[in-house]
Amino acid sequence: MKKVIVIGGGASGMMAALSAKQHQKDVIILERNQKLGKKILATGNGRCNFTNVDATELHYNHPYFVKTVFEQMSPKKTLTMFEQLGVIPKIEAEGKTYPLSEQASSIVDVLVYEIDRLNIPVVYDAKVIDIQKQDDFQLTLEDGRVFRADAVILASGGMAMPKSGSDGIGYHLAEQLGHKVTHVFPALVKLELESPHLKAMDGVKFPGVVELIHDHVTLQTESGDILFTKYGISGPTILQLSRKANALLQDNKDVMIKVSLVNGPEKRDVAKRFGMLLHKTAEMSLVGLINKRLIHPLLKEVHISNHTLVKDIPKDKLNTLIQRLFDWQFKVIGSKDFDDAQVTAGGLSIQGFNPQTLESKTVSGFYACGEVLDIDGLCGGYNLQWAWSSGYVAGKHAS
Ligand SMILES: Cc1cc2nc3c(=O)[nH]c(=O)nc-3n(C[C@H](O)[C@H](O)[C@H](O)COP(=O)(O)OP(=O)(O)OC[C@H]3O[C@@H](n4cnc5c(N)ncnc54)[C@H](O)[C@@H]3O)c2cc1C
Repeated sequence: MKKVIVIGGGASGMMAALSAKQHQKDVIILERNQKLGKKILATGNGRCNFTNVDATELHYNHPYFVKTVFEQMSPKKTLTMFEQLGVIPKIEAEGKTYPLSEQASSIVDVLVYEIDRLNIPVVYDAKVIDIQKQDDFQLTLEDGRVFRADAVILASGGMAMPKSGSDGIGYHLAEQLGHKVTHVFPALVKLELESPHLKAMDGVKFPGVVELIHDHVTLQTESGDILFTKYGISGPTILQLSRKANALLQDNKDVMIKVSLVNGPEKRDVAKRFGMLLHKTAEMSLVGLINKRLIHPLLKEVHISNHTLVKDIPKDKLNTLIQRLFDWQFKVIGSKDFDDAQVTAGGLSIQGFNPQTLESKTVSGFYACGEVLDIDGLCGGYNLQWAWSSGYVAGKHAS
């Protein structure tokens, strides 16, 4: 029987090993940590948004490549597989799917149990630092141990959350075999803004609408929770925008985030409201409309003193205030780094891999799956779904 080695025991690696075993391969996992699936435990705020029932190839950066993989292992098939392993899905808004237990450990536990049940050997503390191919593959670990295999599946992850074990070393292993790595940068990550008001707004969370703007054109709009921080802005809405924002910043393009502080009422409703509150101070006129901690920074921004009565605010300034409530723009100057990112944008160039099999086009017997490849998706269960689907396909074809 041909021997397959999986480098990395994260989401895609565990799936690849199970798939290879189901397809009658002698497979082992080399994992640098002392346990499998470390990153999975941190996903979905500890609840693991393990798939999205609405996931299609259009939720990823390279739809055609993903489509070919999903044709063999769809989100629906993945859900069935997890149900067979004992995970009851809890489907929430926008198709986000969690284990009913709401514990990420459930996902790790059922996978590890299955790996044990199928007698798939796992070698821990096994950091692969060198890979060579002659007739077969020779893998050298950091401690000098050497493993040989007929096929290798690289499932070492990208660079997001390096403390979980995925620090980008997988790119170097693939480069040793002649593969190319695209430019990589953090995605699904908090953004840094330029504004004198951040300190005062730090920690304010509110539901609203955000837009990503480049060259006065809105490129993406998201609504939901927004969180100001001392360095910038965060929350699910921002994570969704962050990939496009960072891609533009990488090209030295200007990026703005437009925030609407008012959720629900329209501009004319707000104008009417000021008309009814003429004898209140500017400060009090905003109480009950927006988060209290945003009031002083906003009034400072539009140069209106907190104690000016609404009736005394010049018309043009009042119009500016109303405008800013719905359209407050901040310059994006960067993002948090890989320590804080949920996913890596970029990775092993997909030009080097066959999407039908995930085998290298140049090194036969070498496969890659999961985040190490230049595939990333939106926030909402899409990235783990890619890990499961690609792991399955790589494991199936690694013979
Ligand atoms: C905080 C956080 C929350 C997230 N939440 C979600 C979510 O809710 N839903 C979602 O879909 N996605 C989420 N993601 C993204 C998702 O977790 C990843 O896309 C997914 O885990 C990638 O799987 P992978 O197998 O490719 O890599 P990883 O899960 O990173 O696994 C790679 C494994 O390879 C091992 N390894 C690396 N190099 C070597 C080596 N040289 N030798 C041996 N072993 C090695 C690592 O130790 C690790 O165990 C989240 C990510 C983060 C950081």
